[in-house]
Amino acid sequence: MTNNRNLPTANSQQPTANRQPPTANCLPPTQKGRQYEMRAQGLREFAGLRSDHQPLDPFKLASYARLLVVSFDQVTGLSPEARDHLLGDGKDLWSGGAASKRLPDGSKLIILNPQHSPARHKATLMEEISHVFLGHQPSRLQIEKKTRDGRTIARDYNAEIEEEAYSTGAAALVPYTALERMVRSGRTVPEIARHYGVSRALVEYRIKVSRLWELYKNNIFSKP
Ligand SMILES: [Zn+2]
Repeated sequence: MTNNRNLPTANSQQPTANRQPPTANCLPPTQKGRQYEMRAQGLREFAGLRSDHQPLDPFKLASYARLLVVSFDQVTGLSPEARDHLLGDGKDLWSGGAASKRLPDGSKLIILNPQHSPARHKATLMEEISHVFLGHQPSRLQIEKKTRDGRTIARDYNAEIEEEAYSTGAAALVPYTALERMVRSGRTVPEIARHYGVSRALVEYRIKVSRLWELYKNNIFSKP
């Protein structure tokens, strides 16, 4: 798959003439939240969305990030045991995977867990797109931690980078300004999730990190 419009990385992005600097009340109250939100707005703008109310389709963005989503069935070379594990006992242990080597055309394969819902696929794929957009180096994602005697104890998935990618992706899927408006007007988590085509868990996460949970509870429980 080729395209001539590649996703720019957050740092290389040129300011566009019609981009307004976001005003303070368009942004969440925490410092981290504001950083994620501004990058998420950059992603939404790249996706051609005109309002924060519009749902974002990460599958349309994926090819610009040179990510090629393939179905689990298209993966060859897995042993029957590995396949059974990934789809059975281990199905809750992974949400998606990116191939470590790029294809000859520069794109990267992404596999989404077929046992997960389309709503979860969106968040997983959005995280992968954010890694590209934020310019994360794949080599930094998987560092093996060793004990003093050289034994590998755990993989450090670089929590900070993972948080940045997940949070930016989540903010792109459910933008703060629209979320704040919906919460204020008494929309419920399932309603908001349905509107954006994401999971309820993701909406709850966005409400909490945006410090809107108190407002949400008050509005929901005072509903007639
Ligand atoms: Zn990640």
